[in-house]
Order: sequence, then structure tokens, then C-alpha cells
Amino acid sequence: MCDAKFLVDSMGGKLAKWLRLLGCDTEYVDPREEDSLILRSSIGRILVTRDRELVKRAINYGIKVVNVPERLEEALAILSASAGVRLRINPKESRCPFCNTKLDIIKRAQVVKELPREVLRSHIKFLVCPSCGNVFWFGTHYWNMLKTLSKVKKKRRSLQ
Ligand SMILES: [Zn+2]
Repeated sequence: MCDAKFLVDSMGGKLAKWLRLLGCDTEYVDPREEDSLILRSSIGRILVTRDRELVKRAINYGIKVVNVPERLEEALAILSASAGVRLRINPKESRCPFCNTKLDIIKRAQVVKELPREVLRSHIKFLVCPSCGNVFWFGTHYWNMLKTLSKVKKKRRSLQ
């Protein structure tokens, strides 16, 4: 379970996608948006930003904020330490990286989207987004994510 809700304004959405897959309700906003709009959208969420001026303004408005560095691994380690993000992919909790909707776990026979035959043949379970229809599976991308997560965990330990 991810108890925290986030609003991320940095890293071209990459960090937001990660947080969604880790099960956190995460909105993304373009960092070029007006500060006032970003702050308004942060109400009820934790603002995650690289913009130090915005951090100061958020604190003034009583908005929870986490200032993250540029590197994804470090940012995730900090969010784990400061906001309790669990560094584990639980498919039952994962949200769509593109639209933040909770994903459904489906069997191969339920996949309606056209996928490469090898993908269909070599996987039994898939994740589907009920909102945008994207389908995900535990392929190379997933294994690479697990590798990244183990790096993040190491960094996380060094923060304690
Ligand atoms: Zn979606």
C-alpha cells in the first residue's frame, strides 16, 4: 500500500511513472506551469519537485513538499525515506504509468489488445489499464525495473 499521494513536476514524467507503478496515486504537472497552479494542484498531495523556489513557496502555504535531486534512483530513495514509498512492485497495487488508474490483472485469454505473438506466448498474466487500455507484462522492462529498485534500496540504506 502507498499511503501518500503525490504531485510531481519534474523529470519529464519519469519519476511520476515510477511512483504509479509502485502503487502511489501520482499526478504529473509540467514544471513550466505557473507556480500558483502547481501549488493549488498540490493540495491534499505531497509536492515532489526539483525547484527550490517552489519548495520555499510550498512550505509557506503549508503544503507538504519533498525536494528531489535529478537522479531517479536518488529521488526514489529520498521519497522512500521521507514519505514511506515502498520500493517494491506489487501488481495488485500498481497504477497505470500513463494515466494513474489502478491496473487490473488479467489472464492471457482476456487480452484484447493486439500484442506481439512471442509476448502473448511467453506470459500468462498481464496487467491492463481499464481507463486507457494499455497492456503491461513482466518482460525485460520489468526485470530492469527490479534492478533499478535494488540500486534504490542500497541508496535508501545509506540515507539512514
Ligand atoms: Zn492508463
